[in-house]
Amino acid sequence: MKRFSILLLLALLINVAAMAQSAAIRNIQQMAREDNRTMQHLDILCNRIGGRPAGSNACENAEEWAVKSFQDWGLEVKLEKAGQMAVGFNRGGWWGRMMGEEQMTLHFATPSYTSGTKGPQKGHVVIEPRTQAEFDRMKGRLKGAWVLVEGKSRGWALKHDADTKAEREKIRKANEEAMQYNSMMAGEDGKRKEIDTSTPALFYDEMVAAGVLGFIQAAPVPITALYDTEVVKNGVTFENLPTVPDIKLDEEQYARIYKMAKERRQIELEFDIRNHFHIGPVDYHNVIATIKGTKHPDEYVIVGAHLDSFDVATGGVDCGSGVSVVMEAARMIAQSGAKPDRTIIFILFAAEEFGLYGSQAWVEAHADLLPKISNMFNRDGGPMPYSAFSAPASLVEEYKKIAEPICELYPDYDFTVNELKPRPMPTRTGGNDASSFDVKGVPTLQMNEWRDVKGYGFDYREIWHTERDTYQKSIPEYQEQAAGAMALMVLGTANLKQMLPRDEVYRPTDKE
Ligand SMILES: [Zn+2]
Repeated sequence: MKRFSILLLLALLINVAAMAQSAAIRNIQQMAREDNRTMQHLDILCNRIGGRPAGSNACENAEEWAVKSFQDWGLEVKLEKAGQMAVGFNRGGWWGRMMGEEQMTLHFATPSYTSGTKGPQKGHVVIEPRTQAEFDRMKGRLKGAWVLVEGKSRGWALKHDADTKAEREKIRKANEEAMQYNSMMAGEDGKRKEIDTSTPALFYDEMVAAGVLGFIQAAPVPITALYDTEVVKNGVTFENLPTVPDIKLDEEQYARIYKMAKERRQIELEFDIRNHFHIGPVDYHNVIATIKGTKHPDEYVIVGAHLDSFDVATGGVDCGSGVSVVMEAARMIAQSGAKPDRTIIFILFAAEEFGLYGSQAWVEAHADLLPKISNMFNRDGGPMPYSAFSAPASLVEEYKKIAEPICELYPDYDFTVNELKPRPMPTRTGGNDASSFDVKGVPTLQMNEWRDVKGYGFDYREIWHTERDTYQKSIPEYQEQAAGAMALMVLGTANLKQMLPRDEVYRPTDKE
């Protein structure tokens, strides 16, 4: 009899726990439907805080705001130092125009961690010299000039490191020899030697010394703006920063101005670029928020996105669309009354854009936890909805149950669960923070986010590190759906009877 009542009590308790879990799921569904705050988070992140590269004040603001938000929702939060910049950077506004025979407003951007102007600066336009003879002929005209340089911008600042300078020196020599050969031999053997006209800024140092106002390079639209690798990666300090602006101009405008400069027409350009630095070092941090597991507190589900972004826009998609969904999923789970079996760790990674620095730092600092991570969910692929999940073979039925409340909540999205085909474990990190985990053998299964279910015509390449990566490029309906689906998927994974079996995720690597 006694034994019987203990069993009964046990059964009752299990039932109560199960009921609490299903109440939590209902609460999440209700919050997702009636009080979905995904776009509020995104609004604050993009429009109040703004673009936020590692080392910027905005980046620090974003860290502070994320910590406070997670705390307000009842999560345990900490900042973990992930690295440091030798110098900090803050972007202000920028504008430019052409004056003289023709006028136009200039459409351009500058990479992060590059120099601004000294207030509005007006000057004539020259085309960069390709040979010493050319340089000598125009050196007097370089002072106070905007210089059109060769090549098509892919967003990077013009290089000014020692290796590049040595390379330019070589090209200049070859160009010199070709010029001499052409002038002496051309008449005799009829052959001409090529002059390199594709490498930009062959006389970089000499032009800076001569007092040019800045460099201008043609850029495809939408304009991409990345950063100065020397400053960001090689520890250039406040005292040794480049001093000349590095402008990436709409390629159509560039072509127009190039032609007019060639024709020696009367035009001037004026730019005002407010790029500012501050003395480093500047630390950057991963923001880590935890909901402790009740049954297996030392097993984990990780949910990540990266907090940093480029600043030529406001990181509305990359990775605002990830951060806002991860934060809202955290809020919904925390406030649903859920008591997940496993510990859920939400991580807003630092400095992803400069080379996955935040996730690399986390994986290194927490190597002991890696074998205990069931799955790492990461959102960094745009403002898309979740419409499927491929589950390890032995968990397909379990995941169909996890998907039920997602389907119920979002009938239009036709959420399906398929069987995962194991893949070889990656050997090299790729394009996002999940890859810092999968090279360590941690499962990083993601929900399918590639179906533009309602046909919004989103194109990731349009926003990727460009001037268009703003709040407006996000898709509210999809973002809210993703937050609800993420909350339910993560909670379900944390409550599975077992961790994801790694041998059903990664194929054993073939031995050669
Ligand atoms: Zn990203």
